[in-house]
Amino acid sequence: MQAVTLLGATGSIGVSTLDVLARHPDKYQVYALTANRSVDTLFAQCRQFEPEVAVMLDEPSAERLAKQLKMAGIQTQVLAGTQALEQVAESDKTDYVVAAIVGAAGLLPTLAAARAGKHILLANKEALVMSGGLFMHEVEANGATLLPVDSEHNAIWQCLPVGNTQKHHYDGKGVRKIILTASGGPFRDYDLAALEHVTPEQAVAHPNWSMGQKISVDSATMMNKGLEVIEAHWLFGLQSNQIEVILHRQSIIHSMVDYVDGSVLAQMGNPDMRTPIANALAWPNRIDSGVVPLDLVAASRLDFSVADHTFFPCLALAYQALDAGGTNTAILNAANEVAVDAFLHSQIKFTDIARTIEHVLSTMTASDGSTLQQVLADDEQSRQIAAEFIKSNK
Ligand code: NAD
Ligand code: MG
Repeated sequence: MQAVTLLGATGSIGVSTLDVLARHPDKYQVYALTANRSVDTLFAQCRQFEPEVAVMLDEPSAERLAKQLKMAGIQTQVLAGTQALEQVAESDKTDYVVAAIVGAAGLLPTLAAARAGKHILLANKEALVMSGGLFMHEVEANGATLLPVDSEHNAIWQCLPVGNTQKHHYDGKGVRKIILTASGGPFRDYDLAALEHVTPEQAVAHPNWSMGQKISVDSATMMNKGLEVIEAHWLFGLQSNQIEVILHRQSIIHSMVDYVDGSVLAQMGNPDMRTPIANALAWPNRIDSGVVPLDLVAASRLDFSVADHTFFPCLALAYQALDAGGTNTAILNAANEVAVDAFLHSQIKFTDIARTIEHVLSTMTASDGSTLQQVLADDEQSRQIAAEFIKSNK
């Protein structure tokens, strides 16, 4: 029996993870569930899974949850705040930590899990984008196991020689490059000029995947793929010129590894996050995920095309930040979070997201990113500059 801490239980990945866990009560037991403010959802999840601990980031929400649980006669202990998130991530009582908080907020608890040597199922790509070097160091120094949940990285993990992260495990085994596939999001067939006028509602309506709001906008701008290029760099120890992005509108091939002998290995399946979640949970074994089997004859076509950096400037910015190194990727991530939030609140246009990030990257001087303090300070400064830019351009 493995004990699981699920950070971000009420989100899209959190709910999919609980769906998989519920299919295997003989293998997994939930130790802790956490959420930001969604009291009612976390209450329902506590009733079903009876975790030992529940954490709400927000203090008043924690009080409400504790009251509801008490009335229902459920024993779960309720904690509040960021410290509590770290506490349940590093607790001796948990084996697996699913990192499914969205954005920079996921960094500290995920780092705590790494320091405690846990099995980390990583959905929160922002942790690697902000501080990949520091994070990978903690993973290796403390004997943690990092299992990618992001569908592309999970696909690559499955296609690599020993199904393991970090280049030293497969160096000399003939990997030429990896190919990340991207659906292209809801605007892939639009004219460049039409992007000026798209709405938040259109942006979050992804053609193939059902996801949280922030990552849905990131998919529309392709910043999501840019963040994934950076994530792949740290996870698999590859340089940016060994990480290619191509458009694949059906989202059936989740990514590929290209070998020097001409072999290209692809991982396929219906676009449902329960597959990579189940894969990471059960690795190196396999368990049922509830995902509908892939019907290739019904799908019938697999199309591929170039990911155009003019049409998707956020993808180009992510490659630039990765090549520039240091905290540039943390700056990129923070500016993107602010810009996406402003777009979702109708304060800026869709095309202003890339403009904001470009402005912040060109204004700030990055540091080498060798300490967490530097990363957090540059993250903070980036948010300020992005917010000022948005205000001054209204
Ligand atoms: P979501 O918005 O649906 O859920 C986010 C979760 O984090 C919620 O439980 C929320 O309560 C919690 N949360 C939000 N802000 C918080 C804060 N400040 N402190 C503590 N908790 C907070 O997001 P999602 O789509 O499930 O994505 C989660 C992560 O997984 C993201 O990093 C995303 O990039 C990654 N990811 C998601 C998908 C997907 O299909 N949804 C696929 C690949 C990777
Ligand atoms: Mg992905």
